[in-house]
Amino acid sequence: MNKIEHIGIAIKNMDEAIKNYEILLGTKCYKVEEVASEGVKTAFFKVGESKIELLEATNPESPIAKFILKRGTGMHHIAFDVTDISKEIERLEKEGYQLIQSSPKNGADNKLIAFLHPKSTEGVLVELCQERVQ
Ligand code: ZN
Repeated sequence: MNKIEHIGIAIKNMDEAIKNYEILLGTKCYKVEEVASEGVKTAFFKVGESKIELLEATNPESPIAKFILKRGTGMHHIAFDVTDISKEIERLEKEGYQLIQSSPKNGADNKLIAFLHPKSTEGVLVELCQERVQ
């Protein structure tokens, strides 16, 4: 894996959270994007080489809505940049890690993504992501 691509934070109110993080990080949000299939609205900030992704649920069935019900707002996942996501999924499955997706799917911010089950990774939801070729 190449680097921490972003850290995902589950939030309740996108407008308030964007304002908060713009002041905190001293930088403007560069993209707001809804991923309808996941039931989330995302907002991205650049912090040096890494990014912060704010995640707001767009419906009560959204994984983010469920996460907030259980654990409140806060850190949701860590995303690692990988060069070849399919190879990485294959490698990790062979090593016995439990993947939530066994093939990559389209994520926000022009990425192919796959999640590992937190059971496999000491309680942390891990996302693999690869820049999608346009
Ligand atoms: Zn993410």
